[in-house]
Amino acid sequence: MLEVRGLAKHFGGVRSVDGIDFTIRPGEVFGLIGPNGSGKSTTVNLISGLYEPTGGQILFEGNDIGRVPAHRRLSLGLARTFQNIRLFSNLTVWENLWMAENAPSHRTGGFLKRWIGGRKEARDRMKRALEFSGLAHRADDFAGSLAFGEQRRLELARALAAEPKLLLLDEPAAGMNAEEIAELDERIRLLQKESYTILLIEHHMELVMAVTDRICVLNFGRKIAEGTPVEVQADAAVREAYLGAAA
Ligand code: ADP
Ligand code: MG
Repeated sequence: MLEVRGLAKHFGGVRSVDGIDFTIRPGEVFGLIGPNGSGKSTTVNLISGLYEPTGGQILFEGNDIGRVPAHRRLSLGLARTFQNIRLFSNLTVWENLWMAENAPSHRTGGFLKRWIGGRKEARDRMKRALEFSGLAHRADDFAGSLAFGEQRRLELARALAAEPKLLLLDEPAAGMNAEEIAELDERIRLLQKESYTILLIEHHMELVMAVTDRICVLNFGRKIAEGTPVEVQADAAVREAYLGAAA
């Protein structure tokens, strides 16, 4: 579904992402891990179109999207959440979903059909996304009044309302307590059952090891390992990268 080839992003002399390759297969939960500053968020920013690559290719369903604008990538079926929550705090939960819904649609049909049929469809989609995220009762509350864990869930709901083919989650558990992480774990498993394809960046190792099919490990902008959770955990280079980072 997604193939990254020799992907690179340099900021001046800083090689945030320095020529990485990986492939995400349909229906897979693919983990992207690595110490702080290893290039994980930059990779998601490249895939979602926030940054233009310095080099390399991003193939989504066979097409190079490396220079396609971000809103077009959303309409192609790529949706994301942010490591640092980005919501409109002075809009309601429902309005925050509308903002995402107003992005162009990858669903087919002529303009008129989409306009007439689309509004009810969009409402239903938004309702389902809110229910799935446990936020239906908060629809009319300001996003700014939500607890932190709820804001994270709203980010997820907003990405889901776009009915993405590939969902990019950048540290969705950051700042969550144990109970919230357990709920997130459950939600990711449900999405996986519904055959969503997911790229998950996460530093809660228990969560990553439990929900991912395969994992790519970055260090200093380069891939140092790739494999199943069991393989990656046993990898000497991975252990060293994490121990080095902790020291
Ligand atoms: P991670 O998400 O793995 O913690 P990032 O991808 O956020 O790491 O960052 C990787 C490196 O790239 C870091 O050294 C960071 O400071 C640098 N970096 C990220 N974004 C920018 C930017 N917009 N300008 C300059 N440097 C950046
Ligand atoms: Mg990051």
